[in-house]
Amino acid sequence: MNRRVWLRNSSMLAGATLLLGRESLAMPTVADGAGDSSAPDAESRARLASNENPYGPPKSARDAMMRAWDESNRYGPAGAPELRASLAAQWQVPADHILITQGSAEGLCASAAAFCAGGEVISAQPTYDQLLSYAETLGAKIVRVPLDANLSFDLPAIEKRVGPFTRMVFVVNPNNPTGTLVNADQLEGFTKRVSAKAPVFIDEAYHEYVEVPGHRSMMPLVTQGYDVVVSRTASKIHGMAGLRVGFLVARPDILARIAAYRQGFPNAMALRAAIAAVQDTEAQQFVRRQNAASRETIYRALDGLKRRYVPSHGNMVFFHTGRPISDVIQQFAERGIDVGRPFPPMLDWCRVSTGTPADTERFVGALRGIFA
Ligand code: PLP
Repeated sequence: MNRRVWLRNSSMLAGATLLLGRESLAMPTVADGAGDSSAPDAESRARLASNENPYGPPKSARDAMMRAWDESNRYGPAGAPELRASLAAQWQVPADHILITQGSAEGLCASAAAFCAGGEVISAQPTYDQLLSYAETLGAKIVRVPLDANLSFDLPAIEKRVGPFTRMVFVVNPNNPTGTLVNADQLEGFTKRVSAKAPVFIDEAYHEYVEVPGHRSMMPLVTQGYDVVVSRTASKIHGMAGLRVGFLVARPDILARIAAYRQGFPNAMALRAAIAAVQDTEAQQFVRRQNAASRETIYRALDGLKRRYVPSHGNMVFFHTGRPISDVIQQFAERGIDVGRPFPPMLDWCRVSTGTPADTERFVGALRGIFA
C-alpha cells in the first residue's frame, strides 16, 4: 500500500471512530481489502458475485454479538459447546459428531489434508472447488467428472471412477455454481455404496434454501456409521460470511483426524452470533422468501430474453450467455454489477447470485441492456 493510500485509509479510520452507532460499524476498514478509492465504489456496486446473503446476520445475531464483548478478552471458543448442543438437538446427531470451524472452508481444507494427500479425489466439474484445489496443492490427483445433461452431479459416472487410489468423493448438494439438486434417495444409495470404498464428503452449504418437499440432509448416514462427512455453514442462509463459522458432521473418529489440521477456532462474537442465528427460524424464512423472489425475477428476465438457465435450489442462477464469460463479466462490471467468476469448462455461462430487490432489478436492467 502506498503512502497516499495509507494516509487516506488512516483518516477514514479516524473518521469512523468518531461516529457512533451502526454507521461506524459499516465503515470500510483497511482490513476489508477495499483499501483505496474502490471503497466508496464498493458500497454502490451490486455485489452478486459470491453467493452472499445480502441481508446479513439477523437482528438476534447482531444483539448476541454486542453481548459477546465481555468474553472477547478470553482465549478459547466460548459458546462452542452451546452452539454444538443447539445444532445437535436441531439435526438429531450427538454433539460429539459436530465440529465447529472457521467457515466451512476451514473444514473443507482440513478434510482434504486429513484424507486426500497423495491420493485421488473424485468430484464434478464445475463445482465448488475449495476442497479440490487444496487437495491438489497437497499432491492429490483430482478427477473431475463432467456434470450430466441437466447440469447436475453425475453420480453413476462418479461411482464408476472410484478405485483403489480414491481417498475421497466430494459432492456438493445443491451444487454451486449450477444450483442443481441431486435427489435424496439417489444420493443416499450412492453414498452408502461408495463410502464403503472411500469417505464421501457432502457439502450442504445451500441446504437451507431447498424447498423441495421430502428433500433431506445426508446427516443420518453419519449416525448410521457410514464414512461420511457433511458440511454446513453460517455464511449463506444466516448471512454471516464475513464472521467465519462453519460446521462438519461426522463420526468422532473421523472428526478427530480432521480436527488435527484445523488452524484455530472461530472468534467469540461469531460463535455467539451463530447460536442466535441457527435458532432464528423466522429470519431464515425471510431469507428463503426473498431469495425465491429474487430468483423468480431473474428467471422472468431470462425467459423474456430467451436465455437458457438452470432452475436453482440455491441463492444463485446459472445462465447461458452464448458469448465468452470474461466479456460478460466486464460488461456487467461497467454497469456497477459484479457477477460470478468463470467456471471452466462452461465458459459461456454466467453465475449471478440473488440480491436485494433493488440489486436484482439493477441486474435485470443491465441484463436486458447487454443481451437485448
Ligand atoms: N461450500 C460451498 C458449496 C460454497 O459455495 C461456499 C461458498 O461460497 C462454501 C462452501 C464456503 O463457505 P464458508 O467458508 O463461508 O462457510
